[in-house]
Amino acid sequence: MNKPLTAATSPDLNKDDLIVITGAGGFIAGTLTRYLHDQGFTRIRAVDKKPLPQWYQRVPGVECLSLDVSEKENAIRAVEGATEVYNLAADMGGMGFIERFRVECLRSVLINTHMIEAAYRAGVQRYFFSSSACAYNTTLQQDPNVRALKESDAYPAMAERGYGWEKLISEMFCEEYWSERGMKTAIARFHNAYGPNGTWYGGREKAPAALCRKVIEAKDTGRHQIEIWGDGMQTRSFVYVDDLVYGIDMIMHCDALIATPINLGSSELVSINELVSLIEDIAGVKLERNYNLSAPRGVAGRNSDNTFIKSVLGWEPNTPLRDGLAKTYAWIESQYHDRKAGKRVVTDHM
Ligand code: NAD
Repeated sequence: MNKPLTAATSPDLNKDDLIVITGAGGFIAGTLTRYLHDQGFTRIRAVDKKPLPQWYQRVPGVECLSLDVSEKENAIRAVEGATEVYNLAADMGGMGFIERFRVECLRSVLINTHMIEAAYRAGVQRYFFSSSACAYNTTLQQDPNVRALKESDAYPAMAERGYGWEKLISEMFCEEYWSERGMKTAIARFHNAYGPNGTWYGGREKAPAALCRKVIEAKDTGRHQIEIWGDGMQTRSFVYVDDLVYGIDMIMHCDALIATPINLGSSELVSINELVSLIEDIAGVKLERNYNLSAPRGVAGRNSDNTFIKSVLGWEPNTPLRDGLAKTYAWIESQYHDRKAGKRVVTDHM
């Protein structure tokens, strides 16, 4: 199998072509911005609705615009002159957020609707959309001993209320802009992502970051207890952010994957209890576990079937969970202590 193309090796892309990344004040798109900048791309425009001081990462030499791209005029402004567009902007968070704010999640449909039309009119060569495993049929995820989800499992559709349906319909836009209008689109269904520079407190954080923070708090305060949402038996896989951005790059530049939704996740399945044990191990503590059975817990089990990505790209996300968690834990720990000392930290300004 030939090595998959990336932005750096794609014959269609020059180092000074304009690349636009939305959601770049957040976790994944911020990391993607840094990654593409480090690959030597000299004209990157990062866009996010948050005011600039609230961005999680600001990469020197990157143009940063604070724009709400759910507004048509702003979407047009954002993509002006672009060769490639990565649309990762979305109003989102962990289970606590997406179960509580379904209308906000659904309204993200405006972001992709305006962004893809603006990109098409601007003559963009390739357009990327970040979908989610929440687009999959929830009736297939009612058992912790799940069968891993393969791409065809999205239909017949019964997506996660709110957030998942927004992703599914936005995927469809990407499929039709290719089949009807000939714009090359790429669609990756991200599974739970984690890593440094993500939301770690404030209500939108996801399980790995939330559990790292709780373990750090327990250690720091000497109250050796931890609250776990649900019974801890729920299973998930977690993809490390560096794998995710590399996967985005390959999926975006693979012609065999145009307008074809593909899983981008780890296939290393763990229960939430196992995740807690791993973090305790990294932290060197053992905590008393209190299960909050009325807290949001999401589907019973979810894993990524990586047969398709392996067959097309000869690769799958492969950072072992323990290694990625150790880096994430260390980063959150330093954020925690900075915050305690009154310093500015990466957080969520809802
Ligand atoms: P994030 O919340 O850290 O980043 C999203 C960013 O989008 C935020 O900075 C937010 O301010 C911005 N945004 C929201 N609405 C906007 C608007 N109207 N205009 C401009 N910017 C806007 O989340 P993330 O984890 O980095 O997620 C990035 C993408 O990946 C999202 O589309 C998300 O749905 C998808 N995704 C993430 C995960 C995950 O585990 N993190 C899993 C599946 C899918």
